[in-house]
Amino acid sequence: IKWTEGRGWHDAELVPYAPLSIDPANMTLHYAQTIFEGLKAYRQPDGSVATFRPHANAERFQASARRMAMPELPAELFIEACDALIQQDRAWVPDSGEASLYLRPFMFASEVGLGVRPANEFLFIVIASPAGAYFPGGVKPVSVWLSEEYVRAVKGGTGAAKTGGNYAASLVAQAQAASHGCDQVVWLDAVEHRWIEEMGGMNLYFVYGDRIVTPELTGSLLPGITRDSLLTIARDLGYTAEEGRITTEDWQRDNADGTLTEVFACGTAAVITPVGSVKSERADWVQGDGQPGPVTMRLRKALLELQTGHAADTHGWMHPLG
Ligand code: PMP
Repeated sequence: IKWTEGRGWHDAELVPYAPLSIDPANMTLHYAQTIFEGLKAYRQPDGSVATFRPHANAERFQASARRMAMPELPAELFIEACDALIQQDRAWVPDSGEASLYLRPFMFASEVGLGVRPANEFLFIVIASPAGAYFPGGVKPVSVWLSEEYVRAVKGGTGAAKTGGNYAASLVAQAQAASHGCDQVVWLDAVEHRWIEEMGGMNLYFVYGDRIVTPELTGSLLPGITRDSLLTIARDLGYTAEEGRITTEDWQRDNADGTLTEVFACGTAAVITPVGSVKSERADWVQGDGQPGPVTMRLRKALLELQTGHAADTHGWMHPLG
């Protein structure tokens, strides 16, 4: 779907996957006016297909667009575009289990010009790719690196938007995590470098017995849809679920004295991933016993059962395609 200043959204079309031809002076290549989303379509037990909370993705896409001085795509058009692609690619939705068809809606400036200003032409596209189960061999805890050198986002910056530049800026820290033998980077706040924000592409939860806590939305972390869903699912299951503030010192101390029983990360791609060990320039510890914990696994099961149609959709989160 195209957007042109003065004309609005126009010329929606469904075409076979193919390369785009890009002008060397395309404004996105220079100024990175680009946003994206990620959501999954799951096969349901009756053979139908459904997406999980696409309205929430559509709303976050609009919020990202506002931050990046881009036009807001109406939520109905966002969902209609995803639905049309899934209908077309129906055969690519895996038959069952945790496998899914991953959808990647995105928008970028399609105007040509070298002046630094918001573009007047944009292109919104959705592509799809089958995604296997994230842990085909069983859930495996990840090791994380606390990044004290680099920051992902600052207040007033673009951290709460799903824009390409945030990910470009994170690559060097991800590489640093890997050089320390860690799977993922954990971002800290930009001012004191001690408040836990989020992981590379997932939000974090801290489990204190039957109370679970996730870092509050400070404006510099992404408001994850999985994070939001888990606040509700956890309460449904009888846990106390809250937003709060946790420092690296809290994490290390509460783990050592046994009050912090589990830590996990959550996001569309992996659903829920246990955190097994933590490293920084100054410290190195095993989280709990290093194994996936019972609360983590219970929440993971509950969310996946909902998404794959094996549990009642009591919150109206599933969007069936018929
Ligand atoms: N934080 C970041 C930086 C992410 O890229 C993602 C993935 N979209 C998340 C958190 C988790 O968000 P969601 O649950 O909506 O996938």
